[in-house]
Amino acid sequence: MTGRLVVVSNRVPSDGPPSGGLVVALHDCLRATGGLWFGTSGRITDDPDDSFAQVQGDGYTMRTFDLSPAEQQGYYLGYANSVLWPLCHRRADLMALNAGDYDTYMQVNRRLARMMAAELRPDDRIWIHDYHFLPLADCLRAEGVTATIGYFHHIPFPATHDMMALPQHDLFPHWMAGFDLFGLQTQRDVAAALEMLRGLPGAELLRDGTISYRERRFEVRSFPIGIDAAAFAEEAARIDGRALLNFAPDERLVIGVDRLDYSKGLDNRLRAFGRYLRDRAEDAPKASLLQIAPPTREEVDAYQQIREDLERTAGKVNGLHSDLGWTPIRYIHSGVPRDTLAAVYRAADVGFVTPFCDGMNLVAKEFVAAQDPDDPGVLILSQFAGAVEQMASALIVNPYDIGEMARALRQALAMPLEERIDRHQALARGVFRKDVAHWTRSYLDTMDRLSAARA
Ligand code: ADP
Repeated sequence: MTGRLVVVSNRVPSDGPPSGGLVVALHDCLRATGGLWFGTSGRITDDPDDSFAQVQGDGYTMRTFDLSPAEQQGYYLGYANSVLWPLCHRRADLMALNAGDYDTYMQVNRRLARMMAAELRPDDRIWIHDYHFLPLADCLRAEGVTATIGYFHHIPFPATHDMMALPQHDLFPHWMAGFDLFGLQTQRDVAAALEMLRGLPGAELLRDGTISYRERRFEVRSFPIGIDAAAFAEEAARIDGRALLNFAPDERLVIGVDRLDYSKGLDNRLRAFGRYLRDRAEDAPKASLLQIAPPTREEVDAYQQIREDLERTAGKVNGLHSDLGWTPIRYIHSGVPRDTLAAVYRAADVGFVTPFCDGMNLVAKEFVAAQDPDDPGVLILSQFAGAVEQMASALIVNPYDIGEMARALRQALAMPLEERIDRHQALARGVFRKDVAHWTRSYLDTMDRLSAARA
C-alpha cells in the first residue's frame, strides 16, 4: 500500500553497529520495512563529489556523503550548532551569526536534495530528522519531488520572541511548509509553532493542526519520542551497578547523565547538590552525586567555558564537604558503555535531571526504565524538559531555583518506599507503553494517513 521508507538524519551508522536511541530506532524501523537511509558519513574530505557511497545495512541500504572542511564548519558547527541549537534552546544570546555559515548550510541542503532527487520515487515516504535539514523538503520540492515528506524536530521549537533574532526568520515557515508533516516533541512545542504561524500573512490554521500556507498544506503535531524501555530494563538488571561503583553500604547515590551542554543546567545542579549538603541534618543520609558528562562540540566557542565552570563548582563543593574517606561529587568526562550506564542508573537512589531547556530528555526515561520496581529510585525532573508532559509523577523542579532543587533532593532521599513505588509505577507505565516503537509507529501511521488523503 505504501512505498519505500526513506530516512534522512545527519549521521548514518555506516561505520559500525548502530548505537544511541534515535539511531537504533531508525535502524529497527528500516530493518522491518526496508528502504534507504541518507546522511553524512562522518568523513571530512577535501573535495567531496556529488555522489553517495553505498553501504548495505541489515535489510536496508545506507547512502552516505562526505563533507568538506568548509561544510563541516559552516553547515554543522556553524549554522546548525551555533545558530539553530542555541535559538531553539532559549539562548538566542549565544547565536554566532555569520552570513557565510548560513550560505553553507543552504548549499549542503541543496546539494543533498539534488543528489537524493535522482533516487527518489513518487510513492516514497521520506522522513527527515532534525535541525540540520530544516530547508531540505523545500529544496527537494524545488527539484520536483512530490512524495510525502515528514520531518521530526528533536529539539524544542523556538519561542516566537526568540525567532525574531534569527535573520532568516521569515524563511522558517516557508521551510516548514515544504513538509507534509512537521513533528514536534511536545504540546508546548506545537503551541509555540502555532503561535508563530498564527497571524503570519498567507498562513491559515485550518483545523486541529492543519495549516495552509501559500499554495501548501501541512500538519503540525506532537510525537513524544520514547526509548527501547524493555531492552534497557533488561540491560540494567544484568550487572550489579553498586559493585561497579565501590560505594559504602550506607552511601546514597544521586546520578546525573548529560552531554556537557549549556542547556543542561549542570552548574546549577552541582550548586543545588552543594546546598543540600550544606543544609542537611546531622542524621540525614550521606549522599554522593555521580555526574557523567562527556564533552561535545568542543570546536564551538560557546562550549569551551562550560567544562571549566563545572570543574570549579565541583571543586568548591568537594572542598567544603569532603572528608578523608569521602568525596561527595564524582565527576566523569567520558562516555560510559550502555550496559554500564543502565546498571548505574539502577543502583542510584535519585535521578537528578535538571535542564534549563530540553526537547525531551531521554535520560529521564532511561532512569525510570532501569529501576528495580520493588525498590525504585526517585526521579527529580526539570519543568523545562519535554519529558515533563508525560512524567507528572516525578518531583518537578525549577532548575533556576537552587533552594527548591536542594529541597527536592531532601524529599527524594527521605521518600518512603510506598510513595517511591507509586510514583515509579505511574512513570514506568508511560515509559514502557510509549516506547520508541510506539513513536515510530504513530509517526509513520500519520504519514500514511496524509499520503492516502493526498492520493
Ligand atoms: P541530548 O539528546 O540533548 O544529548 P538526551 O537526554 O535526550 O539528551 O539523550 C542523551 C542520550 O545520550 C541518552 O541516551 C544518554 O544515555 C546518552 N548519554 C549521555 N551521556 C552519556 C555518557 N556519558 N555515556 C553514555 N551515554 C550517554
